[in-house]
Amino acid sequence: MTGRIQRFTVQRIIFWSVAALLGSQLAWWISIQVRESRRFQEERVARLKAGRAEAWQYDCSALLSLANASQFRSSPARPGTVEGLSVDAPPLPERKAAIERAFPQVEVVKDPKEFDDPPLVDGVAYLALRPEPILALERERTRALWRTAGQGAFMALGVLLGLTYIYRKLNSEMDLKLRQRNFIASVTHELKTPIASLRVWMETLFTRELSDEQKVRVHDLMDKDLERLTTQVANLLDVARADAGSFDLRMEPLELGPWLSQVAEGMDHRLGTGALGLRMELGLGIWAMADAKALGTALENLLSNAYKYAAAPRETVITLDGDRDEAIIVVSDKGLGIPPKEQARIFQRFYRVGDEMTRAVQGTGLGLFLCKEIVQRHGGEIHVTSKGAGLGSSFVLRLPRLAR
Ligand code: ADP
Repeated sequence: MTGRIQRFTVQRIIFWSVAALLGSQLAWWISIQVRESRRFQEERVARLKAGRAEAWQYDCSALLSLANASQFRSSPARPGTVEGLSVDAPPLPERKAAIERAFPQVEVVKDPKEFDDPPLVDGVAYLALRPEPILALERERTRALWRTAGQGAFMALGVLLGLTYIYRKLNSEMDLKLRQRNFIASVTHELKTPIASLRVWMETLFTRELSDEQKVRVHDLMDKDLERLTTQVANLLDVARADAGSFDLRMEPLELGPWLSQVAEGMDHRLGTGALGLRMELGLGIWAMADAKALGTALENLLSNAYKYAAAPRETVITLDGDRDEAIIVVSDKGLGIPPKEQARIFQRFYRVGDEMTRAVQGTGLGLFLCKEIVQRHGGEIHVTSKGAGLGSSFVLRLPRLAR
């Protein structure tokens, strides 16, 4: 068993390593995407700036060819120098139009926008990048980043869901294994104790001279041990039958009031008359289709718990009520109570509140599981309410009501 627990520890380590690996891969992928998009953006801006330099060269070569050909004399010219040559440059609007036609991303402006905007010859104006293409690039980058963020979030969600699923599976498997371990320890104890006790009483009966009174007392004690043994074996068999799907019910119309009082009084008698501190408020004429024996097993388990998990003097209240569609049975005690976070779990197979070492009361964690199986097979449901530890518990059974 320790080996199994160690295997779970190893599985947990593997799980967290895989989770860390996937998480770091995802973070790495996102950082690469962000870096790449920044690099791509910078490249495109650099290309735009290269276009601005080309525009400058374009203007210079136009002026150089003018200087060589000495043209454009007709329009009012402004003298300038290019590469040491004197040239009568065409008017600025003409040059501006020519440049902006050839390089749509460039504009000719009076003052530089950036420190490295190249001046036209003799500093008559500057070549600057238009804001629109840069803004369009910015928008494109923002869109690309959002796309990356969306993909990243989608992948993260997928990874998270997968990991959560595996984690829960792992936890529930470990939980089940631990409960099975507790169960085996409990069953061993539950079966061994009455057998050991019976052996002692048998030896006492056969080896010692006892008075009639003592014999009656030993007989009662042996009866209790047998009862305990019978109940445990019956519960185990019923659970095995429920598992195998062969828990057959013989459904018959049953008037719940008289049946409840008979089962409860029988149980109280077996536990030691008055032990349960029974009080019953049973509505009359409430019927259900039920297998009296199976439903009796469920009720006996609830009453046995009301006995086990409460200290004497006990107060156990059974009420039977009904509306048009349902018969409602409530079994309440003033015992240990059940913390809210445990209330759904106590109906699970093998589940017991607390740790096996700290549990003062012996049990197998099968009683309520069996109750739930039986009640559900009757088309009903069972739940517990308790204000918490030390405040008692109420088990509520709802069964489909039979109209009579
Ligand atoms: P068992 O009693 O054999 O342990 P059950 O399935 O009957 O198994 O009950 C499961 C757990 O629910 C118990 O171990 C106990 O912790 C808790 N429980 C059940 N009934 C009561 C009750 N009436 N008062 C307090 N705790 C209860």
